[in-house]
Amino acid sequence: MKFGGTSMGSAERMRAAAEIISKETGKRPVCVVVSAMSKVTDLLLDTLRHAELGDRAAVDNNLRTLLERHIQACDELLSGSPSAVRLREPAGSAVRSLMAEFHRIANGMFMLSTCPPKSVDAAISIGERLSSVLLAHYLESAGIPAKSVNAAEVVVTDAVFGNASPQMGPTGEKCAQRLQPLLDEGVVPVVTGFNGATANGQPTTLGRGGSDFSAAILAASLDAGELWIWTDVDGIMSADPRLVENVAVLDELTYAEAAELAYNGAKVLHPRTLAPLVEKKIPVWSKNSFAPDKPGTRIVDRLSGPPGVRAVTSMSNVALISMEPANSIVSGTRLMARALDALALANVEILVFTSSSYRQVFCFLIRKQDVPVALEAIESNLSLELNHGYLKPVEVDENVGLLAVVGEGMRGTPGLAGRVFTAVSRERINIIAIAQGSSELTIGIIVRRAGLERAVRAVHDEYGLGIATAHEAVNVEA
Ligand code: ASP
Ligand code: MG
Repeated sequence: MKFGGTSMGSAERMRAAAEIISKETGKRPVCVVVSAMSKVTDLLLDTLRHAELGDRAAVDNNLRTLLERHIQACDELLSGSPSAVRLREPAGSAVRSLMAEFHRIANGMFMLSTCPPKSVDAAISIGERLSSVLLAHYLESAGIPAKSVNAAEVVVTDAVFGNASPQMGPTGEKCAQRLQPLLDEGVVPVVTGFNGATANGQPTTLGRGGSDFSAAILAASLDAGELWIWTDVDGIMSADPRLVENVAVLDELTYAEAAELAYNGAKVLHPRTLAPLVEKKIPVWSKNSFAPDKPGTRIVDRLSGPPGVRAVTSMSNVALISMEPANSIVSGTRLMARALDALALANVEILVFTSSSYRQVFCFLIRKQDVPVALEAIESNLSLELNHGYLKPVEVDENVGLLAVVGEGMRGTPGLAGRVFTAVSRERINIIAIAQGSSELTIGIIVRRAGLERAVRAVHDEYGLGIATAHEAVNVEA
């Protein structure tokens, strides 16, 4: 079971998590993975930035806030019963010593006026280590044997600081040594999400929101029967509820569909989460810790029902970059290769890529935050072509948004894809670019930013993805 930031956000929420855990521990062994308390990772990062800039007052202020928040949760959790009160002191001192560790790293950054990714990784996993200590002590106090485990001891990764990838072989061995014995003894390991360490012990993190990924890595390594991901919403939805009124919670999705949704901007799962689970076909549940009795969404290898169109997602913080050779003598393919190479070296992710036409124009969509780095990379890699006029100046359009329709049912069903365009054009929204891979799982269309929300609603309606309205529900019953 993995508990996200809001599910760990306060003493009250940690109690609710413990309740959920205790219901299952009677039935089978449970391994727990936790996020930092909500907003804590942001605050830790903010502190490091202030340290780098030499702003002592801001650093101290943040440190105070962080300590108070965790000590308050600790005091609230460990009160009442004598067994709880007895654990308050050791839990409190564990919290203080973790905060002291963070303080030391921040001080180093303060003195050197620098914030190297390696040290950032060592520092920000403290958020998860704090929440894991709190939950483990609380479980103990409630009579559920538990142990806080730092994932740096079990999740082995490469050395890409800030966005590390797991090495599943060594991770599996460490899990067998470190976690399996606890599970066999009936102890609940409370493992930190988000972090790991290289084979020689340097701390790493898996990227923002990476606790979901941690949970999947551990589930696969431990051969778990199921993975339950606890969040603050009822499951994966047919669209973003902030954009569409009558969104439905999906009962079931395939791994491929869920991965496409995450990749295309749905916020429920970290995009890399599902990969470790696919091979072993470990089912995932996305559930709401605020309403644990609701069924949630099940993510599986094969659907029990018929395939269909599942959901519409959108992304608005994106930019479309277009490139075009100045004449037909220049090889468009070669320019594409060079541009892509430059982007890969600069670590810029391409969300959509399309190319067409005799003129060999090609365009790709990236995150807005990546635009400066992407332009610099392309312009330096293609400076000769640009300076000598073989390549037209690179165009950047930030006034766009991406809409994606996802569903296994799109594969091989003529007409299903076309309805996206019908719905969007009925709203008189112009489509700028289109992409569909040959997996036929997702159609991405790029539209003007101003039309994005309307387009999402129109497509959601067109496929009837929402919950039945009161009127339709009556008809069904009749
Ligand atoms: N605490 C980390 C973050 O905020 C990881 C996570 O919550 O998944 O990015
Ligand atoms: Mg999260």
